[in-house]
Amino acid sequence: MKIMNRLSALIALTIFAWVSSACEPPFPQTFRATTEAMATYISITVVSNDPALAQEAIDAAFGEIRELEKTLSFWTEDSEVARINATAGKGTAVKVSLTTLEVVNLSLNVARTTDGAFDPTIGPLMRLWDYRSQKIPEAGKIAKALSLVDYTKVMVDPEASSVRLTDPMMSFDTGGIAKGYATDRAVAVLRRHGISSALVAVAGDIRAIGQRADGAPWRVGIRDPRSDSPEEIIAYIELTNKAVSTSGDYERYFIRDGKRYHHIIDPRTGHPVTGAMSVTIISDKSVLSDGYSTALFVQGPEKAMQSMQSLGLEGLIIDSDGRVHISAGLKKMIQWTSTTYPPH
Ligand code: ADP
Ligand code: MG
Repeated sequence: MKIMNRLSALIALTIFAWVSSACEPPFPQTFRATTEAMATYISITVVSNDPALAQEAIDAAFGEIRELEKTLSFWTEDSEVARINATAGKGTAVKVSLTTLEVVNLSLNVARTTDGAFDPTIGPLMRLWDYRSQKIPEAGKIAKALSLVDYTKVMVDPEASSVRLTDPMMSFDTGGIAKGYATDRAVAVLRRHGISSALVAVAGDIRAIGQRADGAPWRVGIRDPRSDSPEEIIAYIELTNKAVSTSGDYERYFIRDGKRYHHIIDPRTGHPVTGAMSVTIISDKSVLSDGYSTALFVQGPEKAMQSMQSLGLEGLIIDSDGRVHISAGLKKMIQWTSTTYPPH
């Protein structure tokens, strides 16, 4: 009797499995979509056995990123960040959404923990360095802009959910952290749609949850900082529930008299940072990987390796001589494909 029961249960189970396989594939599949937002290229890959659900989840995540862009953009005039900047020095605090409040607080936290190597009030300098016209700004203008850079002059009132910049002409730039923040929010949207395995990439800010359809960890390539092709990969990192970001001097730049002028600016000098070609940081959240990859790029290789230890981050730095500096934990997660950049 017992055996019969078991047998009928087994038959029932088999039939159920067979019926369900007729409606939907019982194995997980991979769905990938790309779009453009935040002035960059975004790609989302999800693992699901339901194509409609996968599509819905990806669309919702793209929608979330577009909303964030409207709220956080430094370059448009109607974002909340633009409103904060427009009232700088006027004494009025600008009421903002929880999103903006969070991004401001997270930015200030990266600034405090890196002694201002990361400074989100870098705005006046970012406006001055115009990579399209390829002009080096006048020294006087750099000095004036530099005097406006000071993250301790950002006043946040968490109760009122407001932000105020104390001095006129100051300006808050979300560029060093917004893409990572958007990556995390996109992951949260995917999770709310029942997705537990995905890879979200907002340009160089990438976060992995779960694993690939074949059960293997997600793999992310580190690009060659001196190749024009983003396809030129020097190493792969295996990511399980982690985020990785790379800041490089090859994203936005121009070369003048043999010198490279790029978009990561030293808040002490007002000039593009020298010392590294790229800094890759791994942490639990993209907003941290993004913020700290920029911050540690500014600090330079030696200090940056110390910061990784004290801040509990893993990472690798390709210094300006092409030498690779790599944290102990990352060595276990990385496969080298290049002999041009051997680990140091
Ligand atoms: P990308 O935006 O190319 O992924 P990063 O994450 O390194 O690269 O961010 C670079 C951006 O960060 C710049 O375009 C600028 O908006 C901002 N930024 C540049 N220098 C600093 C700095 N010292 N502190 C904070 N933000 C910075
Ligand atoms: Mg960054």
